[in-house]
Amino acid sequence: MSMFDISERAEKYRAQLLEFMDSHVYPAEAVYDEQMRAAGDPHFQPPILEELKAEAQRRGLWNLFHPYAEWGPGLTNLEYAPLAEIMGRSHLAPEACNCNAPDTGNMEVFTLFGTDEHKEKYLKPLLAGTIRSAFAMTEPAVASSDATNVELSMVRDGDEYVLNGRKWFASNALHPNCTVLIVMGKTDPEAAPHRQQSMMVVPIDAPGVTVLRGLPVFGYQDREGHAEIDFENVRVPRKDVLKGEGEGFAISQARLGPGRIHHCMRAIGMAERALELMCRRASTRITFGKPIAANANIQDWIAEARIDIEMIRLLTLKAAYLMDTVGNKEARTEIAAIKVAAPNIALKIVDRAIQVHGGAGVTDDFPLAMAWAHLRTLRLADGPDEVHKRTLARQELRKYRDVKADN
Ligand SMILES: Cc1cc2nc3c(=O)[nH]c(=O)nc-3n(C[C@H](O)[C@H](O)[C@H](O)COP(=O)(O)OP(=O)(O)OC[C@H]3O[C@@H](n4cnc5c(N)ncnc54)[C@H](O)[C@@H]3O)c2cc1C
Repeated sequence: MSMFDISERAEKYRAQLLEFMDSHVYPAEAVYDEQMRAAGDPHFQPPILEELKAEAQRRGLWNLFHPYAEWGPGLTNLEYAPLAEIMGRSHLAPEACNCNAPDTGNMEVFTLFGTDEHKEKYLKPLLAGTIRSAFAMTEPAVASSDATNVELSMVRDGDEYVLNGRKWFASNALHPNCTVLIVMGKTDPEAAPHRQQSMMVVPIDAPGVTVLRGLPVFGYQDREGHAEIDFENVRVPRKDVLKGEGEGFAISQARLGPGRIHHCMRAIGMAERALELMCRRASTRITFGKPIAANANIQDWIAEARIDIEMIRLLTLKAAYLMDTVGNKEARTEIAAIKVAAPNIALKIVDRAIQVHGGAGVTDDFPLAMAWAHLRTLRLADGPDEVHKRTLARQELRKYRDVKADN
C-alpha cells in the first residue's frame, strides 16, 4: 500500500464517523454546555456524554485507536490518522468514541505489559468505557521534562513496594469514573539512569493516595481534571509492577509514541474546524461596507491556514506510515517533528480565527477559546517543544560527529 492510499475499511469508518459527528456530536455540544452549567461541578459526567458513548458503540465507532485486532478493529496508524483528525473537531468526540488521552495510552500499556489480572480488572472495563485511568509521571518538585529526574520513591519491603512522593498534572484523575493510576517512580537510585524508574498500577482509592486538587488550566477546570496527588506510604504488591523493576523508561517509550501522534491528529481536526469557523464568520460579518473576508490580510490568513494544515497533515501521515512500517522507535524523529509542528500551527490558526470573530472569539459561544487553551497545553504535555527539538537536533548533528575542525 502506498502512503497515500486510504484503505477500504478506513474509508468506511471515515464516512460513518463524519455522519456521526453531524447527526450526534456537534448537536450535543450545546446540550453538554447546558448540563455542565446546571450541574455546577466541573468534573460532572453529563448524561449526554454517556448517550454519545452508547451511540458510538452501537455504530461500531469504538476503540478505533487500538492497534491490536483482539481489542479493537486493529487499524494501522495511517488508517487511524484521518479518523482521529475528525474526532479532534469536537472536544466531545474522543471520549464519545473511547479514543481519548490518557486512557488510550494506558490501554496500550495494559495490553502490552499488564498481567491477566490487570487485563480483567482494568483493561476490559477501560475498553468498555465504564472506568477511566490516569498516568502519573510529572512531579512538582523536579523538572520532569527530563524524566530521569522523577523521584517518587518506591522502596521494596518484602512482597510489596512502599510509595512516597508527590505527582501533579495527572490528567483524568478527577474524572468520576477514574479508578486506577499508572505511576512512575524510582525503585533504584543506584542503577544506570534509564534503569532507575519503574511503573506500577495503583488503585486511586488505595490507602495513602490523596487527590489534593485539580489544577486549573488557563482558568479552566477541565472535566477530566489535572490532579495533584500525594502518595504517603502507599503499599503496592510486587505483582503490580509493570513489565519488571527498572522498566519504566522502556514502557514510557512504548506508550508515548502513539499518544503523541494521536494528539497531533486531533490538533489538525481543531485547526480545520477553526478554519471553517473563520471562513464562515469572515464571509458574513460586514465592516466598512464589505465582508471581513474581502480584506487581503484575512484572505492571506485563510490561504496560509490551508497551506499549513496540508503540511502538518502530510507530516503526520508520514510519521504514522513510518510507525506502521519501521516501528515507533525508528519513527521517533518524525514523531518529535510533528509533535512540535502540529500544536504550534494549529494554535496560530485558532488564534487568527479568534481574531476574526472579534470579542465572540474569546467567549464560550464558540469552541475557539477552549481549543486555544487546550492546544497551548499541548506545547508542554507529552514533552515540551524544546525537548522534542533537542531530539531532532541531536539526530541531525549525529550526521556530523566525525567532522573535523578546519585549521
Ligand atoms: C494540560 C496538561 C496535562 C498534562 N497531563 C499529564 C499527565 O497526564 N501525566 C503526566 O505525568 N504529566 C502530564 N503533564 C505534564 C507535562 O508532561 C509536563 O509539564 C512536561 O513534561 C514538562 O515538565 P515540567 O512541567 O516539569 O517542566 P520542566 O521540566 O520544569 O521544564 C520547563 C521548561 O524548560 C524548558 N526546557 C526543558 N528542557 C529543555 C532543553 N533541553 N532545552 C531548552 N529548554 C528546555 C521547556 O521550555 C520546558 O517547558 C501535563 C501537562 C499539562 C499542561
